[in-house]
Amino acid sequence: MKKILLLLVLIPILTYLILSNIRPRPSALSDYLVAPIQQPTINDLTVQFLGNTNIVLSDGHTSIITDGFFSRPSPFQVLFTDIKPDVFEVKRCLAKAGISKLDAVIPVHSHFDHAMDAPMVAHITGAQLIGSSSTINIGKGYPLSENQMTIPPLNEVVKIGKFKITFIASRHWQYPDAKQRALLLDQDIEAPLTPPASIYDYKEGISYTLFIEHDSTKIAIQGSAGFKQHSIKNLDADILFLAISGIEIMDETYNQNYQDFLIDPLQAEVLVPIHWDDFTVPLAEELKTTNVLFNKIYGSNLGKAFEQIEKRNLHKNRKIKVLPVWKKIKIVELLE
Ligand SMILES: [Zn+2]
Repeated sequence: MKKILLLLVLIPILTYLILSNIRPRPSALSDYLVAPIQQPTINDLTVQFLGNTNIVLSDGHTSIITDGFFSRPSPFQVLFTDIKPDVFEVKRCLAKAGISKLDAVIPVHSHFDHAMDAPMVAHITGAQLIGSSSTINIGKGYPLSENQMTIPPLNEVVKIGKFKITFIASRHWQYPDAKQRALLLDQDIEAPLTPPASIYDYKEGISYTLFIEHDSTKIAIQGSAGFKQHSIKNLDADILFLAISGIEIMDETYNQNYQDFLIDPLQAEVLVPIHWDDFTVPLAEELKTTNVLFNKIYGSNLGKAFEQIEKRNLHKNRKIKVLPVWKKIKIVELLE
């Protein structure tokens, strides 16, 4: 009897452990992987991908980062506990990336997997936290000093060193589950948010499309696979950092709209997929994809997401490039 009880407990645990460690890797991840050869020098415009939608752009004098999310709470923490920035993990990742000073931290919207660590990263690196009023309320709850936070005007150029950044209001990817949409989308964080807090306290705020100019280089960043009709006008990017997670479970109309109202109007020659790794595991040497349990529950399929992007873009002479994590890459090399 005792043995049977023990088995009844052990089998589900073992099954969970095995399934949560099987992580399908679509061939697209290696097919499109960039293998940079050139070593950037001090004055080169570079990009460094740090998982999820963390993108560091630097010209040697000025450095900016989107999100700066490194804590990556576990699935258990996300589902069953309140969460907070992990100072050890944030410092470990910044050190591993070779980052000691930043000029701006720019969350693409205010969900925890984008904005939760942003005030801490701004505090550690001396950067300005730039974002919607919701993001600023995360900053106030940290608390970050008022003069270290800015709400940018929409559709106007914000200058940071030689970077000229335009914040365009866009939309978040639409959760298929109505309850999730009601809890997380189209709402602001109305008061200073002090962690630990529930993931549902991190309301969306504004989801931005960022358009960033640096000399003659133009970079667009879409941190969530959503679109707002006619929000993109007269812009011509060289590179589009494009959130792809979740598009595989949307219908053809949604994905065609993502193409027609976001990807095509930005006219980029190079598409760099972002927001595709499992952000509930610590940042390691290589980015991990989501496991089969997660994929089963949420219908996720990264290979299918790549196929959606391929079929609508490759014939248009656009290239897909997957960035390795941690590595500083010259933007000109990415454009070759
Ligand atoms: Zn989000």
